[in-house]
Amino acid sequence: MSDLSATIQDVVSNNLCTGCGTCVGICPAGALEIIETADGRLVPDIQIVRCTACGLCRKTCSQLRVSAELMGVLDSAPAGPIGAACTTTAKNIVFSTAGQSGGATMGILSWAMESGLVDRALVVSVDSNNPLQPRAMLVDNTQNLQQCQGSQYCPVALNVVLREVLDTAGRIACVGLPCHMHSLSLAMENIEAIREKIVLRVGLFCSGTMTFGGRDFLVKSSGVQPGRVQKFAYRDRRWKGWPGDVSVMDDHKQSYYIPRTARMAAKDFFTPIYCRLCPDKMNMTVDISVGDAYGLDTDGVLGGAALLIRTDVGQRVVEQAVRDGYLICQNVSESAVLAGQKSQPAWDRSRDFAAVWQQTGHVLPAFWSETSLPQIISISAGKAARRLLRRSLSWQCGSARRRHVRLPQFLMIGIWRVKLAWNMIQSIVHRRRGNHQSA
Ligand SMILES: Cc1cc2nc3c(=O)[nH]c(=O)nc-3n(C[C@H](O)[C@H](O)[C@H](O)COP(=O)(O)OP(=O)(O)OC[C@H]3O[C@@H](n4cnc5c(N)ncnc54)[C@H](O)[C@@H]3O)c2cc1C
Ligand code: SF4
Ligand code: SF4
Ligand code: SF4
Repeated sequence: MSDLSATIQDVVSNNLCTGCGTCVGICPAGALEIIETADGRLVPDIQIVRCTACGLCRKTCSQLRVSAELMGVLDSAPAGPIGAACTTTAKNIVFSTAGQSGGATMGILSWAMESGLVDRALVVSVDSNNPLQPRAMLVDNTQNLQQCQGSQYCPVALNVVLREVLDTAGRIACVGLPCHMHSLSLAMENIEAIREKIVLRVGLFCSGTMTFGGRDFLVKSSGVQPGRVQKFAYRDRRWKGWPGDVSVMDDHKQSYYIPRTARMAAKDFFTPIYCRLCPDKMNMTVDISVGDAYGLDTDGVLGGAALLIRTDVGQRVVEQAVRDGYLICQNVSESAVLAGQKSQPAWDRSRDFAAVWQQTGHVLPAFWSETSLPQIISISAGKAARRLLRRSLSWQCGSARRRHVRLPQFLMIGIWRVKLAWNMIQSIVHRRRGNHQSA
């Protein structure tokens, strides 16, 4: 038995745990399990009697350490190293239709599997017994990839599957968010078997998730009882095309849609602290980064993806996938992709938040404490707090101002926001009473 200080307990108690699942996946003693908190985050639960105090979990947690890979690309932050940029869709019509942004990710994975580059892919699907619960899994054939399409804007303990990776032979491609990839990078640095098996990393752009409280709020807003949900999508393109509204299908196959604007308004409320402190929207350390083609020519027309190709491996994979008819690509300038993603403002916002977080006596994640502290303390807490306040006020009034609405419409928006807030409060009370589902 050991004491908690050898483990990642402080990451959890400092509210910094992203629920990436890496510590759980690599713990040699099986002392960690992922659980869901009352407010709908994922964190590791420690069975201290099993812990041998080996310290491996602390070495692989990206909230405690910055990987050599991430250190190596800091000069090019917040974009990261870029060899080429393109807009892309999968050529396979099934992938391109069901994909969140044209199925580019699945086009890449299916090429990697069918060409023999990898044997398996580490991806996210939903639990077969619960359509509201995402689940990370290793997939070993391209037919099963389709069920893993679509973005789950909620916590996913992707790297818990490293347990299986360690027990499975063969090469693996991974798809994940920046927080997954930073801890994976540390796991690759520290554990040879993982380093040898992960041969391709595809990273999604990420501007934050909602807690499961946010998901429950959206389901509640649809009017469908959680037990009667057959299918749930954060962004369903079938209703009004790309980028897609929230859809909830009940057990009579009736679908209910909630406008994307409502999801975006709720997102701010349900964003966990660790996302507000997150420095990497663009997934800087992977082979290929993928996101929506916001602000690019395909915007709203094809609903394709934007790719940033970062490494030689990434370059070879994309070239060969295009040559073999898995992807359709069109070159674009990298600055257009970065402008569409608003990568610099996102970085500035996180840095401002980190400044306020630190100056209000909280512990910073390793990225800010080990790399950019001088930058952080150069902004005064007062200035940063004012900027954050301004942003949250503009969120309150923004949609009304942008659309130049008249007074009656403004009042309607006000009523809608009050209703939204009331639904949020009810969702939280419901969860606090212990009616949330466990991970
Ligand atoms: C939480 C989150 C935030 C995002 N934020 C942005 C953003 O700000 N800007 C932007 O342009 N794009 C963002 N994306 C990426 C975008 O939504 C699409 O996933 C991306 O463009 C790929 O589309 P696709 O059609 O190629 O993928 P698909 O073919 O639909 O495949 C989806 C892939 O995403 C993986 N996946 C789904 N949910 C998760 C998850 N929670 N964690 C890890 N992997 C997951 C699946 O395993 C699958 O491999 C975000 C995605 C997520 C999950
Ligand atoms: S490795 Fe991931 S899941 Fe584990 S404590 Fe760190 S952030 Fe949380
Ligand atoms: S990785 Fe080592 S220190 Fe961490 S919980 Fe497991 S046994 Fe304990
Ligand atoms: S914003 Fe950062 S911490 Fe939050 S889900 Fe995305 S990558 Fe993870």
